[in-house]
Amino acid sequence: MKHPKEERTYVMIKPDGVRKGLIGEIIKRFEQRDLKIVALEMFQPTHEELDNHYPKNEEWITRLGHKTLTTYEKYGYDAMTDFGTIDPSIIGPEIRKWLLDFMKSAPLVKMVVQGIHAVDVVRKIAGDTMPYKADMGTIRGDFSIDSPALANKEKRAVMNVIHCSETPEEAEHEIKHWFGANPTHNYKRFGVDE
Ligand code: GDP
Repeated sequence: MKHPKEERTYVMIKPDGVRKGLIGEIIKRFEQRDLKIVALEMFQPTHEELDNHYPKNEEWITRLGHKTLTTYEKYGYDAMTDFGTIDPSIIGPEIRKWLLDFMKSAPLVKMVVQGIHAVDVVRKIAGDTMPYKADMGTIRGDFSIDSPALANKEKRAVMNVIHCSETPEEAEHEIKHWFGANPTHNYKRFGVDE
């Protein structure tokens, strides 16, 4: 069992975050919450790396479709007009394809963030997946406003500045996928580790 201060999560600054000049702002928000950056790099991902990063199981892909349908229902948009179907298992794969195209459109910044409940705290700092729903004070709430209602019309992924792991298990899997087995560095943060 890991020490609570050693929980790690995986974060990627997406193309919109990089192109908006938000790299420093995003790192600042993790550091000011006493989380520790223990690995950091800018890189251009390949299609294959991204394809292996995002889940391929039917449940995850269908969930993407469901999210869209929920927004469409709430705001009175017609999924039939945009997708020619209301079946989430057909809408989901389409969105996954847009997501891979979007993630390849600029360099990304990948990092490992460590600290108490790092996975949950980083997701809280990031805010809701859908920027139009994200609270002010979160990264997505302060720097983006996108919605599936617009993104799907423009046939692209929702632009929400960063990716961060959902569970500690997913985090360890993603850290290994993007950094290899031993990516992280060790140092003591003033006021946090001593
Ligand atoms: P995350 O873990 O908060 O990033 O959210 P998900 O894992 O559910 O979705 C992965 C990514 O797919 C999101 O960050 C968005 O960029 C994109 N996405 C999710 N749902 C939709 C959708 O309904 N429509 C579109 N166009 N993109 C979506």
